[in-house]
Amino acid sequence: MATPGKNNDLALTKDARHWHEATLVKSEMTASDIKSLTFSVKNWTEHKPGQHYDIRLTSESGYQAARSYSIASPPNMKGLVEFGIQLLENGEVSPYLFDLQPGENVEIKGPLGGHFIWDDSMPGPLVLIGGGSGIVPFMSMIRHVRSKKINKKIILIVSAKTLDKIPYYKELESYKDKNIKIVYTLTSKSPPGWKGYEGRINMEMVSKELKDIRKEMPMVYICGPTQFVESIADGLIKLGLNSHEIRTERFG
Ligand SMILES: Cc1cc2nc3c(=O)[nH]c(=O)nc-3n(C[C@H](O)[C@H](O)[C@H](O)COP(=O)(O)OP(=O)(O)OC[C@H]3O[C@@H](n4cnc5c(N)ncnc54)[C@H](O)[C@@H]3O)c2cc1C
Repeated sequence: MATPGKNNDLALTKDARHWHEATLVKSEMTASDIKSLTFSVKNWTEHKPGQHYDIRLTSESGYQAARSYSIASPPNMKGLVEFGIQLLENGEVSPYLFDLQPGENVEIKGPLGGHFIWDDSMPGPLVLIGGGSGIVPFMSMIRHVRSKKINKKIILIVSAKTLDKIPYYKELESYKDKNIKIVYTLTSKSPPGWKGYEGRINMEMVSKELKDIRKEMPMVYICGPTQFVESIADGLIKLGLNSHEIRTERFG
């Protein structure tokens, strides 16, 4: 039986249940519609790659709005947490976060989430499939693997409308090596000479990319808009993967 306040994978620390002040210290574009925001956090707690925080904004009238955002930074950035926020023009919260200036504060609660996590004690290769800002939690995983020099095979499959909408593209390109394979697919318009895939992620593409590591029992993480996540998870089950090999995070 589950213990109250504790899920099966990870107990929430006491600090993760309360709102804490966070001050923006750095902001930069990581794609044409995604901004990386790094906050200095009071009561900082080490996270597990894949986890998220809730961010809360309060207006002068006292109205509050909160949304969840995945952590892009690796766990070892003591006192700092980075997020990757996609701008939704008509959204309630993301435009405000997008306009936030260094020195300004928000409230955050976390780290949260006990299922969509990866830590280096987990065996097998990692297959990470993300749509747009859905690759944000994968940045935490990949950066952790790189900074700790963990010997781990990773295949990252990224889908974005256009090349300029692939988050962290330059950084991802710098990670490609014998252990880290990055596969891109552009769903709207590709530049001349594009060598990646075109169109939505489909099972033909996924089974081709996974062919060499299927035997090694990879853990598959899928993250992005709900429909994207569900169609890929269903496809993987049809390909013969077991549900316990697949973890999903839906951004809504
Ligand atoms: C666990 C978790 C982690 C998340 N991590 C991230 C993250 O790392 N980066 C990030 O940018 N977002 C992330 N999200 C989504 C985020 O919480 C917000 O939903 C998003 O920023 C929109 O909020 P908003 O207030 O701007 O828009 P809202 O006012 O809430 O929504 C405006 C409209 O846009 C639709 N909408 C919401 N999300 C999307 C989307 N992704 N694409 C298209 N339409 C959408 C809504 O259904 C609504 O119709 C995460 C969500 C969850 C649950």
